[in-house]
Amino acid sequence: MTGARPGGGDGAPRPAGRDVRAAQLARLGLRTDWDFVLHLPLRYVDETRVVPIAELRVGEEAQVEGEVVAAQVVHRGRRQLLVRLADASGELVLRFLNFYPSQVKALAAGRRVRVFGSARGGAIGGLEMVHPRMRAADEATPLPTRLTPIYPTTEGLPQHWLRARIERALRDVDLTDCLPAALRVRHGLAPLAAALRELHQPPPEADLDALSARCGPHWRRVKFDELLAQQISLRLARARRASHSAPPLLPAGDLAERLLASLPFRLTEAQRRVRAEVEADLASGTPMQRLVQGDVGSGKTVIAALAAARAIDAGFQAALMAPTEILAEQHFRRIAQWLEPLGVRVAWLAGKLKAAEKRAVQAAVAQGAAQLVVGTQALVQENVRFARLGLAIIDEQHRFGVAQRLALREAAVAPHLLMLSATPIPRTLAMSYYADLDVSVIDELPPGRSPVVTKLVSTARRDEVLARVRNEVARGRQAYWVCPLVDDGDAGDGERELTAATQMFEAARAALPDVRLGLLHGQLPAAEKNAVMQRFAAGAIDVLVATTVIEVGVDVPNASLMVIEHAQRFGLAQLHQLRGRIGRGSRESYCVLLFDEPLSEAARERLRVIYETTDGFEVARRDLQLRGPGEFLGRRQSGAPLLRFADLERDAALIEAARDAAAELLRDHPAAAHEHVRRWLGSRAALAGA
Ligand code: ADP
Ligand code: MG
Repeated sequence: MTGARPGGGDGAPRPAGRDVRAAQLARLGLRTDWDFVLHLPLRYVDETRVVPIAELRVGEEAQVEGEVVAAQVVHRGRRQLLVRLADASGELVLRFLNFYPSQVKALAAGRRVRVFGSARGGAIGGLEMVHPRMRAADEATPLPTRLTPIYPTTEGLPQHWLRARIERALRDVDLTDCLPAALRVRHGLAPLAAALRELHQPPPEADLDALSARCGPHWRRVKFDELLAQQISLRLARARRASHSAPPLLPAGDLAERLLASLPFRLTEAQRRVRAEVEADLASGTPMQRLVQGDVGSGKTVIAALAAARAIDAGFQAALMAPTEILAEQHFRRIAQWLEPLGVRVAWLAGKLKAAEKRAVQAAVAQGAAQLVVGTQALVQENVRFARLGLAIIDEQHRFGVAQRLALREAAVAPHLLMLSATPIPRTLAMSYYADLDVSVIDELPPGRSPVVTKLVSTARRDEVLARVRNEVARGRQAYWVCPLVDDGDAGDGERELTAATQMFEAARAALPDVRLGLLHGQLPAAEKNAVMQRFAAGAIDVLVATTVIEVGVDVPNASLMVIEHAQRFGLAQLHQLRGRIGRGSRESYCVLLFDEPLSEAARERLRVIYETTDGFEVARRDLQLRGPGEFLGRRQSGAPLLRFADLERDAALIEAARDAAAELLRDHPAAAHEHVRRWLGSRAALAGA
């Protein structure tokens, strides 16, 4: 096939050097033959038929064949090649804006050519095709008998190269089905070889719409296999973990009991249950890998502190990591306040510490003098060596994304891992990406909380909201005033945050002259952030104007009002987290969502959800529905699309089938199970187990 665009599409490409090609393929994740076999088309074009020129329809892709009546290079603003092509039914203009001399020759008057493209209305009436794909039409080039696949590709990697390479891989690999016939029949699965051949080269009568929508038996088989590979590798990861041993953390003293006794509250029933589950893991002798889920305010921190106390009492160190500096700092303060009176040495480590301070902390950790270290990601990034790390705790783990989680797990070579999250994992994810974790749920809030009342208020009624803030402050309460990033063009996130927050602060100051205001945003130096946070916690600030830096974990029980500006710009999970900052004391709390009109359909839907429900699980479920699972998984951060074909929401039923099949295959046909994973995951196997 010859084309027209130099270096692009099907166009006669400059031959790529071997390194260049390898880099292109790496970008697509293509390395082994199986990678190519599993590189499936995005769509197809029908080059099996030739349509009479008179039957071309504007906007539809089709193939025509005819004789060149005339061809000329003209200058209309720019140099272009215009070709008149005729068949028995009519005439068509071909227009090329980039072309090689060889193409001018191939399109000389009298040549017969076959072109494929989308017709549009021409400049002088009639139809034209711009840059059609073309090939010479003679007996030596019979019409293809199969639809032509269009593959996902990357710049500089032409379709015809990919097609040839994939065809070769399809010939070379052993397409023997890994699934025993009985299992295939039970799950109603098409045979593998047929499914792959049909997807790469469907017959002309195939249902193109169904293929493009990734429906039908062949796609179903591929999706099933993809999910099966994931399920098998998750099971293998879990089995590997179970086969490792970890020191049983059996307390020598009664540190955890003393901690409990010193707290101003009693654990809820749910906290007691989860605490027991965690302690059983720690004592078991195999590495713990437990996720504690509990809605905002359900009291996860104390569970973490109790686990740490247990590890310390057993003679080990513990580390607690949080996603933001504000949250980590707050944990540090609170936990130090709890544990230091009991004789535990607690250290603080963040990226922003001065070099000397950092070195001192690192030394204390390396010598075992620091028994509990609280910090940010610096804990895994800064090469911290522990004398005897027994337990790593990751707070708000969902903020870290799957790939980061894997990195953390490898870097934090702690025998036991405890993760905390306020964002419940939707069922489909719990069955897939998170299937190798044990999950505990704190499904009860501490007593005496009154639910937060959420109000939706148009920005037009802002004065009423200001009055409410004044009122609340007059009664000795505190409030958060939250603003999102304002998009003002080219500024980077940091600058935008700064502008948004400072503008908001000035506006609030003008509107509330008699109120003590504080300003908190991510661009402030760490020390200043902490100072502001502490003054707010101590009641020296009435209203805290803040960006979403306060989204996670911040805990000031006297704050009973939250106003969220431009609420329509926030995501659901974010709104729920923000709202979780209030309703922590015993009085009724209000969350006012200020929105700007007109609202988009999606924004209206989000606000409706947050207005209607305060249950974090329900919010997460609706969030997944609205957004799809990609962001939930942190794909944006990881850059790795972990599932290529199956869709966690749409194919939920397939996940369950794949889960059953994985268990059966591993039990009865372990070799086939391993071969299946090798085909599908190859080098990606590690990520699937994250
Ligand atoms: P989250 O689960 O959102 O991390 P925290 O651990 O920050 O919640 O707890 C929220 C607040 O509830 C804190 O002030 C904490 O001290 C308090 N708390 C935790 N458990 C209880 C309990 N059983 N009874 C009363 N208050 C509790
Ligand atoms: Mg928390």
